[in-house]
Amino acid sequence: MTNSVRVHAYGGPEALSFDQIPKPAPATGEILIRQEAMGVNFIDVYYRTGLYKLPNLPSVIGMEAAGIVERVGAEVSGIAVGDRVAYPTQLGAYVTHRSIAADLVVKLPDSISTRQAAAMMLRGLTVQALLRQVRALQPGDTILVHAAAGGVGLMLCQWAAHLGAEVIGIVSTEAKAERVRASGAAHVLVGYNDVPAQVRRITGGAMVPVVYDSVGKDTFVDSLDCLSPRGLMVSYGNASGEVTDVALRMLAARGSLYVTRPKLATFIGRPEQLRSASAELFDVVASGALTIDIGQQFPLSQTAEAHRALESRATVGSTILVPD
Ligand code: NDP
Repeated sequence: MTNSVRVHAYGGPEALSFDQIPKPAPATGEILIRQEAMGVNFIDVYYRTGLYKLPNLPSVIGMEAAGIVERVGAEVSGIAVGDRVAYPTQLGAYVTHRSIAADLVVKLPDSISTRQAAAMMLRGLTVQALLRQVRALQPGDTILVHAAAGGVGLMLCQWAAHLGAEVIGIVSTEAKAERVRASGAAHVLVGYNDVPAQVRRITGGAMVPVVYDSVGKDTFVDSLDCLSPRGLMVSYGNASGEVTDVALRMLAARGSLYVTRPKLATFIGRPEQLRSASAELFDVVASGALTIDIGQQFPLSQTAEAHRALESRATVGSTILVPD
């Protein structure tokens, strides 16, 4: 048997049930991982509440984890027992032992621990997609980053600054602002009030060519108001709720804006895409330009507490789970 956290019925953090389930054997093409750490991401909240639907109930939730290969199934090449591996986006990660297709994982370099990997794969690959694939960030670009002290946010600030961008971060508290300044943001706005006016002041009226908005419903219109003509709104999350009812004339009225709603899986869906984006992420970490901030760590049995902390905006950087 192995420990897991499952959702039996959609709901609040109390819907997370710490259950023993059978330890899976690796099928053909699969490996069995003894997971040493699992990432807690906001998308896990969406699956727990039912905003994103699970394939069936009960289901193990969680998207990313890292650990040691314990067994290798038939027809697997390039991965051996004892290898350290991680994966970023495969539903079913809140579990101590997991069998998974070998081509969905990447091997970790020696310099990255399994705990660091669980804190950075999903978030770091999201940042790679946002800054390098959705739109190639240019040195000198001024960008606006919401929830800048979050797991994705701190990495986005660091990587964008490393690429030569001028980052304006937004956070809800002064304590979070300190962390964002230390991550390379040139300007930090505390609180989401009057954001367009503050961006106008900082940019001398020019506004910004790109906004990275993970907050969603509460900030969408303000984010559009922060863009320069033909600017790009990257709406990549729903922390405050889903964005609905967007009229295209809103884009025309503000100067022929673009909007995209990226999803990480689109950018790393093929094994070679996963490997090349991961290699780039590992290189940026190895260069020292991107540090992995494990702000919170909880035992797997306390996953509900981890969700409460994330949803109540009490976390900074990444949150991980470790086996009990
Ligand atoms: P975070 O650590 O960023 O936590 C969410 C943060 O959002 C909070 O700390 C808070 O920061 C801010 N926030 C603003 N309004 C609310 C609200 N009403 N309720 C809760 N939080 C709020 O989480 P992650 O790093 O895990 O994820 C960041 C975002 O990126 C999420 O929206 C997630 O869905 C998205 N994402 C999207 C992906 C994609 O493929 N499109 C992939 C990965 C992540 P503050 O208090 O400073 O405002």
